[in-house]
Amino acid sequence: MPLRTAGPGLQESLHHYALRIADIGCVSLRALESMLLRSSDRAGINCNAVFPSSWIGPRSKFRELLSALERDTGVDNLRIGTFHVVADVLGRGGTRRRQVRGEGRAWCPACYHLWDEGTSCEPLLWAFDMLTACPIHDTRLETSCPECNSSQSFSVPYRSRRQCTDCGARLGHLHGLMERDKQNRWVNQTLLSFARWIGDTREPVNSGSYVQFIHHVRNRPPEASPLPEWAVRYHSNQRPDLALPTISTLLNWAALQGTTVQEILCDPSTAASTGLFDSQSNQFDGLLFRRRDLTLPLRKVVFVLSELASSSCLVPPPSIVWLELGLWCSVVEDVCPLERSAYAEKYRTQKHSMSAQRFKRGVTSCMRRFKKSASDVDDRDGCLSLLMSLGYSADSANECVSASMALRAALYRAMDNAKLEEFDAIRAARASAWATNKLEEKGKRTPEEPTSG
Ligand SMILES: [Zn+2]
Ligand SMILES: [Zn+2]
Repeated sequence: MPLRTAGPGLQESLHHYALRIADIGCVSLRALESMLLRSSDRAGINCNAVFPSSWIGPRSKFRELLSALERDTGVDNLRIGTFHVVADVLGRGGTRRRQVRGEGRAWCPACYHLWDEGTSCEPLLWAFDMLTACPIHDTRLETSCPECNSSQSFSVPYRSRRQCTDCGARLGHLHGLMERDKQNRWVNQTLLSFARWIGDTREPVNSGSYVQFIHHVRNRPPEASPLPEWAVRYHSNQRPDLALPTISTLLNWAALQGTTVQEILCDPSTAASTGLFDSQSNQFDGLLFRRRDLTLPLRKVVFVLSELASSSCLVPPPSIVWLELGLWCSVVEDVCPLERSAYAEKYRTQKHSMSAQRFKRGVTSCMRRFKKSASDVDDRDGCLSLLMSLGYSADSANECVSASMALRAALYRAMDNAKLEEFDAIRAARASAWATNKLEEKGKRTPEEPTSG
């Protein structure tokens, strides 16, 4: 049984392929997994392949399932339905894989409505978190039932996938919204071209390429246009030999350089040298990713981080900020990699009169005390004497209290919705102005690129 495709860049994901195989064999996906792994060390243990990433990667043991499927089906191109070629160079962030926080699967309502049992498939492309619209129908992807608003799990079997698991309503319809946001359209085009390249590529990408790209960017010739602030901070902060970039980070670099994700990974020196003399490049704030499940919190995260990073006072350790915002560090990395790295860099380069450990303990004590106090006004003097009773010097206590109060103030300002919306609108307008330029440039360079519609 061959892998399906709806056109270049729209090859079926291996997860969907496995769902179809399981359907034909009348078994569950879990049972299919244990059949495939029957001769492996993993047989019977940790069989848990209900999430797409177990089948498509990039950072799971998908290769074992992939080769078992190729072996048992005799189909030798199943790997193009996975992140096989970039599995060693791409971090896991930015692909849809979590069920927590209420958001599961995303789908194109028109694709579901016009489903053809003989040919239709869910493409690998839908695995990207940042993809907002279907390239076939130019319809915004949906993540909840149009009738009852429930999110839909990844693991629903092939036959029931196009109905709501809660109320049974059809998920397919033809009243989807068009994608009009220009930045999103640029992101969607760039992801489609990346998926197309995955479909055409045989050999996995060399793992040193991203390091090289960052190296070339760092060593730009002095006459090149200046980089935006976040990019300067990013590469003075990151040790690219340690961290694999996520797709959101790569999209940001691709956007800045006016290149593609695959060029950064395959031809890093060319990718780093395009856009060298783009006089607008230092105005590029970074892409503005919205997560449907995180609309307000995300805006709030970006706002709080930007407020703190641009303030002149000491800032608290990143882990305390994530805690206050109720987020894991990896989520912050996913949704706003640039702000996260700018913040981390500001924290790393500030000087305290005490060890980092002690600073963190001091700030934690202050935050606790602020939370306990019933009053709206933070009790600065109370905190100072608390810390001094714990053996902090007056200077150290002052540093801890100032950093805590800066965080409290930023969190407080972030409760003002009007302020958040204004902040978001400014960012969105800048991203959109930038994307308009890029789309126009792209239109001039590659007239064969399909235009939307
Ligand atoms: Zn569609
Ligand atoms: Zn429903």
